[in-house]
Amino acid sequence: MKQLIILAGGMGTRLRARLGDLPKPMIPIGGKPLLEHQIEMAQRHGFTDILIFACYRADLIEQHFGDGSRWGVKIRMVVEREPLGTAGAVLAGYDLLADDFVVMYGDTMVNVDLERIWQTHLQSKADATLLLHPNDHPLDSDLVEADAEGWITAFHNRPHPADKWFQNLVNAGLYVVRKPALQPWTGSQKPMDFGKDLFPAMLRQGAKMLAYNSPEFIKDIGTPERYDKINAEYAAGVVQRSSLGTAQRAVFLDRDGTLIKEVDGLTSAAQLELLPGVAAAIRELNHHGWRAILVTNQPVVAKGFCTEADVVETHNKLETLLGREHAFLDRIYWCPHHPEKGFAGERLELKIDCDCRKPKPGMVLQAAKELNLDLNACWLIGDTTTDLETAQNAGVRSVLVRTGHGGRDGKSKAAAGVVADNLLDAVHLIMARTSL
Ligand SMILES: [Zn+2]
Repeated sequence: MKQLIILAGGMGTRLRARLGDLPKPMIPIGGKPLLEHQIEMAQRHGFTDILIFACYRADLIEQHFGDGSRWGVKIRMVVEREPLGTAGAVLAGYDLLADDFVVMYGDTMVNVDLERIWQTHLQSKADATLLLHPNDHPLDSDLVEADAEGWITAFHNRPHPADKWFQNLVNAGLYVVRKPALQPWTGSQKPMDFGKDLFPAMLRQGAKMLAYNSPEFIKDIGTPERYDKINAEYAAGVVQRSSLGTAQRAVFLDRDGTLIKEVDGLTSAAQLELLPGVAAAIRELNHHGWRAILVTNQPVVAKGFCTEADVVETHNKLETLLGREHAFLDRIYWCPHHPEKGFAGERLELKIDCDCRKPKPGMVLQAAKELNLDLNACWLIGDTTTDLETAQNAGVRSVLVRTGHGGRDGKSKAAAGVVADNLLDAVHLIMARTSL
């Protein structure tokens, strides 16, 4: 029996007008208590041992769910006497914990393929696996930094210095935790929060923490505005379509000349400048449930003109600038390789004929695998014939934009299905040709 812990102790003070006497997890989404959505999702993925840590009006939760048998699960309630914080509550219930368990918050609307994150966690042998995602307000969110292998390297709590560029990677509030990793903190009497206290402390002690970057739906209902928005998204089917168990649609985006000003051999973040309308275009993709995925060739690394860290810094700037305008990329894929050897200063280990360099479809196919994409429903937008050939090779439709090279690079004979003036036009065109 796989175990799920739901932290349902929230008071919901800011939502009182919508809640009446109800505890926050009982707030209706699409006419059904939020907590019931969570329990049904858990059951679908085989998480049938459910612990609910409750506080305010725990009796109403208990009345509704009983022992859980109506939902095909076993529910145990743990009533907190004093507020211990999210991690403190779980630590206080240490004896009830399974060897590995999932933690969710009772005030988040969630549609996540739990089995998928569970398997990733077990295979990685991580001490904790955190579901992270980019969001549309990274500047006022606590951010997480991860390395290329997906291990968490730092937590950056807000406020963020204005002169630094950050990855748009936010703790979404869903974790898989290995019980023994919590052992050192079981004696702590202080209230502790997972995101602010326990995870940073674990990282300092050398715990292995995996960043599980996922575009799946997970949002808290903390304010009346957010609550109304989530209800609307539920009514529109956005929540239901978001699980990685369901095939997703995506728009692949080229970088130079498509999202940012074309600079011959861009090697530093300082040279990066967003093209007009780009944030608005990506925001539309975000709002309509399209995955926005960057795919870019960066042979400047193989050529020795800059390092991997410079590319990451450039992408951090891109994400920060987009974040300021409430837009985000779901994933960034970049190829550091280049096939032709024999130049001064080059990095021989990257001078290979790889599978990821466009026009090869490697990055698109990797994304399709990692994000369960339905390639028949996907598009690629770029400014070069190489992009068009990539789309052809990957079996996705393409739009050529007139920005950047505007298709005049002469590298390939691949033709565009559609031509648009710029990214925003391209996105509108795609929307017009796709039924929701
Ligand atoms: Zn490559």
